[in-house]
Amino acid sequence: MSNIASAAELIRKGGTLLADPCEVCKGVQIKFKDGILCINCGKKTETEKIVEKTEPKEVIKRKINECILHLNGEDDINKQLDITKLIISYITILDKIKDLEI
Ligand SMILES: [Zn+2]
Repeated sequence: MSNIASAAELIRKGGTLLADPCEVCKGVQIKFKDGILCINCGKKTETEKIVEKTEPKEVIKRKINECILHLNGEDDINKQLDITKLIISYITILDKIKDLEI
């Protein structure tokens, strides 16, 4: 079975086309229950790897980055204080997560 045929098969079985292109060949990817498949080169990404990105540590780190971006564009001192408090909270959480080894 060619990749295009299996792609059509996956969509028929409830797979969905992804907006994100394949990391390797920039081809169209399909999301299905076990993971993500590139129609073009056939690269398969297991769902486990996708789940990794939502692990607590990564989520908090992403949030800290978002806060820093907000802080960069913020002129209001009170809002800066709010954002820095939030960043400190995230860092505290990150520290606690490290201890728990989640
Ligand atoms: Zn590909």
